[in-house]
Amino acid sequence: MKILVSACLLGENCKYNGGNNKNEKVLALAKEHTLIPVCPECFAGLTIPRVPSEIKDGKVFSKDGKDLTEEFNDGAEKALYVAEESGCQIAILKERSPSCGFGIIYDGSFTGKTVAGNGIAAQLLYDNGITILGESKADKIGDYI
Ligand code: SF4
Repeated sequence: MKILVSACLLGENCKYNGGNNKNEKVLALAKEHTLIPVCPECFAGLTIPRVPSEIKDGKVFSKDGKDLTEEFNDGAEKALYVAEESGCQIAILKERSPSCGFGIIYDGSFTGKTVAGNGIAAQLLYDNGITILGESKADKIGDYI
């Protein structure tokens, strides 16, 4: 089946610091499935590297105080477009990210603390019927298909 995946989990250097979050469990899924990479923050036109952002009170702010909510919403819409055009019903997304996190995200203080909540793209995908798993559940995907 086709699975939408946070591009950084596949080793793409699209993370805010120019690195990636390569995850072998996620990469292993490519043996049986077609993985469709997306990076909502790149889709939003944000640079690599970039100042990190977190969600606070429903809006997205970069660490240097810029309101990037509109950009994050734009990137989320584009990720949804890719999901729908490619026929993905399920997504494996990077945990805790302000775009891709699902269930738990960083709390907006840039201290590494987390709160309950969803990233902007994860929320939009979920609202449109896509099942979302974090990378720590990649090897359990059979339970969700
Ligand atoms: Fe990875 Fe998502 Fe952040 Fe892009 S927006 S670097 S895919 S966590």
